[in-house]
Amino acid sequence: MTVEVRPLGVSCNLQCLYCYQHPQRDAGNIRRGYDIEKMKAGIEKEGGAFSLFGGEALLIPEDDLEELWSWGYEKFKSNGIQTNGTLINNNHMRMFKQYNVHVGVSVDGPGELNDARWAGSLERTREMTDRTHAAIERLAGGNIRWSLIVTLHRNNATPDKLPLMHDWFRYMDGLGACGARLHIMEVENDAIYRKYGLSPEENIAALLSFAGLEEKLVNFKFDIFKDMRHMLLGQDNAATCIWNACDPHTTRAVRGVEGGGQRSNCGRTNKDGIDFIKADVEGFERYLALYHTPQEYGGCRDCRFFLMCKGSCPGSALDYDWRNRSAYCRVWFELYRYFEDRLVEQGLQPLSLRPERRQAEHLILEAWAANCYMSVKAALTRIEQGRAAGGPTAHGNGHGDAPHGDHTDGRGPGHRDSHGDAPHGDAPHGDAPYGDHTDGRAGGGREM
Ligand code: SF4
Ligand code: SF4
Repeated sequence: MTVEVRPLGVSCNLQCLYCYQHPQRDAGNIRRGYDIEKMKAGIEKEGGAFSLFGGEALLIPEDDLEELWSWGYEKFKSNGIQTNGTLINNNHMRMFKQYNVHVGVSVDGPGELNDARWAGSLERTREMTDRTHAAIERLAGGNIRWSLIVTLHRNNATPDKLPLMHDWFRYMDGLGACGARLHIMEVENDAIYRKYGLSPEENIAALLSFAGLEEKLVNFKFDIFKDMRHMLLGQDNAATCIWNACDPHTTRAVRGVEGGGQRSNCGRTNKDGIDFIKADVEGFERYLALYHTPQEYGGCRDCRFFLMCKGSCPGSALDYDWRNRSAYCRVWFELYRYFEDRLVEQGLQPLSLRPERRQAEHLILEAWAANCYMSVKAALTRIEQGRAAGGPTAHGNGHGDAPHGDHTDGRGPGHRDSHGDAPHGDAPHGDAPYGDHTDGRAGGGREM
């Protein structure tokens, strides 16, 4: 897990029309200064390699970047940055190489496909898109680790745009990108959803088309698909945060350090523009509630993919209310069902179809009720051990043994998605009862 450092908070040189950070900007919560020593102290307290984040992290003066990255290299041997790529110059390129900086580039495709990443006018926007692509070419030729973050919306993922996106991903594969994180657009208000949001069917079709494309690419991977396969196999140790019961008040996967050195959370749940202080104790109330709440009331009850999906990111919840399940429930359900079928074809048995699923659910719910995190893998191991011993965990009861301390439905947020209504073709998800940051497990939570 990486520490996200945000010296300038949400300050940015672009005005991407769908940006989830707009509520903070609209509320005037834009920082203009930072203190490097306090940020270093904050990073040390979090205790791991860090990645610079924004807004746009390259708005930071180059001397300050060098100070942070040289320090980060000395301490952790690697650095990271998430950038829109428009500001990358020769000196940045030198520093990327010298200080082993992994560069994540946020871009939604070539030319007009990237127009939602708005720069004030169409001409300026296209110019910025060209700059981002020129930077990508340079990264590719520069022996620098780089990858992409791509958000799907009406500008780049409707059926007419998909062939262009496929060509572009093939090109990126040829350039040597490690891969891309695909994001379904996280919506902050209904007007943006009406303009840029894809219907559930369009999101599903786009994602499935990319899953098919991936099989023909050489090195390029879409990490969301890898996550979903792993989750179905109960291998959740390296899965990204959206599948791992993220508490919006502690965001385990995002340990943020702000310009003044203070701790912060992932900003995706900041729907009211306030960057709340990180809570000391992780809670799992959302997940306990989702498990028990019927789907027509915004919960996940009876979904066979609950352990894999867990209602997804609280930042993408229905009605902009983190207590609800994902507004993209239908998309996730169909994707999980797709990968479930693929695994079965390979002779593997996904957790969604295994008899142990109920036991694993019970163990994990017990852990949550005790304010502890338990991975699916740990729960399956415990069940296995209990079975081998002929012991009590075989019945799925964790016995409260002490904890080990340690984002018409699919329609987008704001829409009431019961998706229990004619749900995905099989009521409720076809089985009787109980049926988007790499997640590290720190963040104040205990782990079982
Ligand atoms: S993207 Fe969502 S799941 Fe991940 S840390 Fe942020 S709020 Fe949590
Ligand atoms: S697919 Fe839908 S109902 Fe199932 S866990 Fe995910 S959000 Fe909940």
